[in-house]
Amino acid sequence: MTSDPNCIFCKIVADTIPCFKLYEDAATLAFMDINPANPGHCLVIPKSHHPNLFETPPAVLGQVMAAVHRVANAVQAVVAPDGMNLVQANGKGAEQSVLHFHMHIMPRRIGDELKMNWGLRPGDMKAIGALAERIKTHIA
Ligand code: 5GP
Ligand code: ZN
Repeated sequence: MTSDPNCIFCKIVADTIPCFKLYEDAATLAFMDINPANPGHCLVIPKSHHPNLFETPPAVLGQVMAAVHRVANAVQAVVAPDGMNLVQANGKGAEQSVLHFHMHIMPRRIGDELKMNWGLRPGDMKAIGALAERIKTHIA
């Protein structure tokens, strides 16, 4: 499994920095985003380090999407949003800020006016943690 000692998401995989974990299997990890664009915003990553879409093997992308499907269903059940975006950024022009492939699961509300570059504003850790507990119990 490839890992980068300077990568924040590799550190989360290695458990050297904490996260609100939602789900993991042999190849993937899902956890809450700490700067949520909306309540329930979470991330799914491969445990192996690949900087972006272009450098991620298709088989790994398949494993990530299977995990996205499970976690998105749980977010849908708990948050009951009006809609949901899956977002994935590659490179500076796309405002990718963490160079470890990840899928954003983003619940949406009608009229939330969320723009593609939503900005990083720290969330309320208590509220994020409480939502993580509820979502976890809905992962099939
Ligand atoms: P990107 O801008 O690369 O598409 O998204 C990176 C995401 O990772 C951002 O939404 C940001 O809030 C999130 N993020 C950055 N550092 C951390 C961290 O230490 N923990 C968690 N849970 N999320 C992080
Ligand atoms: Zn990494």
